[in-house]
Amino acid sequence: MTIKGGITVEDATVEAFRGTVRGPVLRPGDEGYDAARRVWNGMIDRYPAFIVRCTGVADVMNSVAFARENELLIAVRGGGHSVAGNGTCDGGIVIDLSPMKVIRIDPTNHVARAQGGATWGDLDHESQQFGLAVTGGLVSSTGIAGLTLGGGQGWLVRKLGLASDNLLAADVVTADGRSVRASEDENPDLFWGIRGGGGNFGIVTSFEYRLHSIGPTVLGGPIFYAIEDAGALLRFFRDYMADAPPELGALCAFLTAPAEPFLPEQVHGRVVAAVIACYPGDLTRGEEILRPLRTFKHPLADLVGPVPYEALQGSFDAGHPHGQRNYWKSSYVNHLSDSLIETTIAHAARMPSPMTTAYFLRLEGAISRLPEDHTAYSHREAGYDFNILTKWVDPEEDGRQIAWTRAFWEAIQPFAAHSVYVNNLGEEGSDRVREAYTPTKWARLAALKNSYDPSNVFRLNQNISPNP
Ligand SMILES: Cc1cc2nc3c(=O)[nH]c(=O)nc-3n(C[C@H](O)[C@H](O)[C@H](O)COP(=O)(O)OP(=O)(O)OC[C@H]3O[C@@H](n4cnc5c(N)ncnc54)[C@H](O)[C@@H]3O)c2cc1C
Repeated sequence: MTIKGGITVEDATVEAFRGTVRGPVLRPGDEGYDAARRVWNGMIDRYPAFIVRCTGVADVMNSVAFARENELLIAVRGGGHSVAGNGTCDGGIVIDLSPMKVIRIDPTNHVARAQGGATWGDLDHESQQFGLAVTGGLVSSTGIAGLTLGGGQGWLVRKLGLASDNLLAADVVTADGRSVRASEDENPDLFWGIRGGGGNFGIVTSFEYRLHSIGPTVLGGPIFYAIEDAGALLRFFRDYMADAPPELGALCAFLTAPAEPFLPEQVHGRVVAAVIACYPGDLTRGEEILRPLRTFKHPLADLVGPVPYEALQGSFDAGHPHGQRNYWKSSYVNHLSDSLIETTIAHAARMPSPMTTAYFLRLEGAISRLPEDHTAYSHREAGYDFNILTKWVDPEEDGRQIAWTRAFWEAIQPFAAHSVYVNNLGEEGSDRVREAYTPTKWARLAALKNSYDPSNVFRLNQNISPNP
């Protein structure tokens, strides 16, 4: 069989490989291949030569060995949500961990162990059964793997730190095909690198997290304001969040008002602003804390109330369906200056797709209390994670949607921090990957890459190339 790049893999070699793995090895034309090659971002349309639907660590180790022996490009897939499409490839092999979802909660010691194919929906569901959680993503279909390896922001980030700050240990299949454990005591250099350095150092087959008592009911939900009040809202949000308790998670967003009865008909289909909050502590205290945000002006709708944490974690799912076309641009922002607020509103108010959102997620709190060199994740001092999540359906629209996103992002650059969260990057080139790290960390990460993956076997990611 000749595959892309002129590489030939004999059928007998493929058959021998099939004998070493328990999960199916899918090739073009096989039943299930087409569904398995697709990832969350509908812009990505790639055709791998092999997709291995791994059932366990042995499948992962044998797939790495097969790929290396046959010089195949490797894509590693967890939840498949990389906007850049790094969970699939053209011509190479996809080592697909998505069937590996076993989760074990230890409610006595507040520890979760989850395989690398689990999503946040899977993990939250198991841990919330015991009233426990760890910081997880805002959309439940996102993989725990990619999200944790890049850092991991969510509603609990100000209270508990990043998902990766709560990682206790991981099992990692390295480029030389070994399975090693990474923790503070075992391979601590690797443990440092996988907490922010992405999938550069190996394939994580299992994550062990420290859990915390959360919910199961929290106080949360959205409060909608008219676009005419967006300037006042963002200025209020800035001042309010400066003194807000660190357990409060909150973001301020722009979106198109859905045609739902809770919103006045005259704003249906129009861009509105919203604050979305999550207070994961005592509900009465939460009511007091959130009151100013809910009353500073008359909102269009106030849906804040007691809600199961698991439901809040799934509340954005419908707005982020699988297969839409996505183009994202992002930057950290330290301060919501009046000029930044005006610029943001001017662009957001003209968003050309009703599926698009743009938001400022408030950071600091527990993230910034850890020393900057604690893990590979960088820019702990950042005040906000700013994101433009542009979504549409019609490929004919690609040019217009991408141009609007770029113009918006360019316009806020004079007010942004010139740094970015690695997990928000699309295919934006190596300079942008460097912006995700401080120069000191970049050097340390490159040295680590040199020691764990000198041939850059794991390069289909936000890549840290080994030292020359
Ligand atoms: C709808 C949506 C919502 C999001 N919300 C948040 C959010 O709230 N907070 C946040 O911090 N980020 C968020 N993100 C960004 C998200 O963290 C990244 O897209 C992340 O890479 C997704 O991980 P995944 O496992 O789903 O993706 P994949 O596409 O499977 O993988 C992403 C990257 O991680 C590598 N990788 C995957 N699995 C493994 C593994 N087991 N071992 C080693 N490397 C692996 C892949 O090779 C690839 O480079 C969101 C993304 C989307 C699309």
